[in-house]
Amino acid sequence: MDKKELINSGKVKSVFTTENEDEVIIEFRDDMTAGDGARKEVMDKKGAYNATISAKIFKVLEENGVETQFIDLPEPNVMVAKKLEMIPIEVIVRNIATGSLVRNYPIEDGKKLDPPILQMDYKDDEYHDPMLNRSLIKALEIASDEEIEILIEKALKINEVLVKFFADAGIILVDFKVEFGKDKDGNILLGDEISPDGCRLWDSETLEMLDKELFRKGKDNEVMNAYIEVYNRIIPDEEKFDV
Ligand code: 5GP
Repeated sequence: MDKKELINSGKVKSVFTTENEDEVIIEFRDDMTAGDGARKEVMDKKGAYNATISAKIFKVLEENGVETQFIDLPEPNVMVAKKLEMIPIEVIVRNIATGSLVRNYPIEDGKKLDPPILQMDYKDDEYHDPMLNRSLIKALEIASDEEIEILIEKALKINEVLVKFFADAGIILVDFKVEFGKDKDGNILLGDEISPDGCRLWDSETLEMLDKELFRKGKDNEVMNAYIEVYNRIIPDEEKFDV
């Protein structure tokens, strides 16, 4: 399937139309950014690792009844996906308190959160992704009450499936961000990506970080090894790409 027209160039992915108007091609680039795009570096094969990890996770979620936009991964860094109209909400689920939660609230870093915290942020770098609540979502005309319920239900289901999936790979799913969109029939599907860019992943034994937090902390020379570690643990050998 050929790329036709570039319709969206985000911080790390480019989205193209295809000959099928209901499908898009998402190219995962090798860019890594932090601070709402303020810092940017290029990391060798990062796009391929993230697209392959994301495709695997989307397939696992589909097997567990969570509909996603994923269709195929024809190349390690190229995903064919259902075209969605994205909802500008970052749905965040937290199983352990850290990051912005402990910066903004008096909660101890590392505290287990059971039940998990569910948070919604407005996806807009210019405003630094401020936190939303139901009345803000309504006032901004982003989603209806019914749609908010669907987002919450789906995010919690994704958490349930992925906590177990990562635990089987010796990884703690600390927190993550997901985004959803509507297909041509108005169904809400999981979109975007689930990769070490938008998750906090800790080694279950050592609690070592295996995600983008390393880059946020300036450990640029360690971050790709962490992504490759996640890839090696969750991608079976027969599904690995040729390096
Ligand atoms: P925090 O709010 O603690 O910075 O992030 C919570 C979780 O959501 C982390 O796993 C983080 O990676 C993810 N997250 C929150 N906002 C963003 C964002 O704008 N981009 C990405 N890639 N991940 C985000």
